[in-house]
Amino acid sequence: MSELRELYQTTILDHNKKPRNFHPVEPHTHEADGYNPLCGDRVKVQIAVSGDGTVEDIGFQGSGCAISTASASMMTEAVKGKPLGEVETLFERFHDLVTGDPMTEPDTDRVGKLMVFAGVREFPMRVKCATLAWHTLKSALEGSGSARTE
Ligand code: ZN
Repeated sequence: MSELRELYQTTILDHNKKPRNFHPVEPHTHEADGYNPLCGDRVKVQIAVSGDGTVEDIGFQGSGCAISTASASMMTEAVKGKPLGEVETLFERFHDLVTGDPMTEPDTDRVGKLMVFAGVREFPMRVKCATLAWHTLKSALEGSGSARTE
């Protein structure tokens, strides 16, 4: 896990310093605001979903701790261009990854680059920071009845 920890730190620092897709999306089809009162993280997620149910564009704004910013940044990279069904699957996998039992080996194979967040499961306070953007994305998509393709 020490290699993963190092990767975690460098990746979080990089994405916190240079957040990807940190901008409004106009026009967008969905948006939601997220707030994590435990840490004070705020994030707004805007998404443009195409007619065939693909995330054409996604951006986020807001301010928060390094973990919440890096997680939002990596989330936008991970879901951009994906069909909504895959976004849903990725949400579930990411959620399992960061909320899993710290004593068990995390299943990092299924989440790609997002595996760097595996270490978060050891810090319950940080789980909410890491999942804030994902919950906000989900709220945005569920805010419109037409968002689900399945
Ligand atoms: Zn936070």
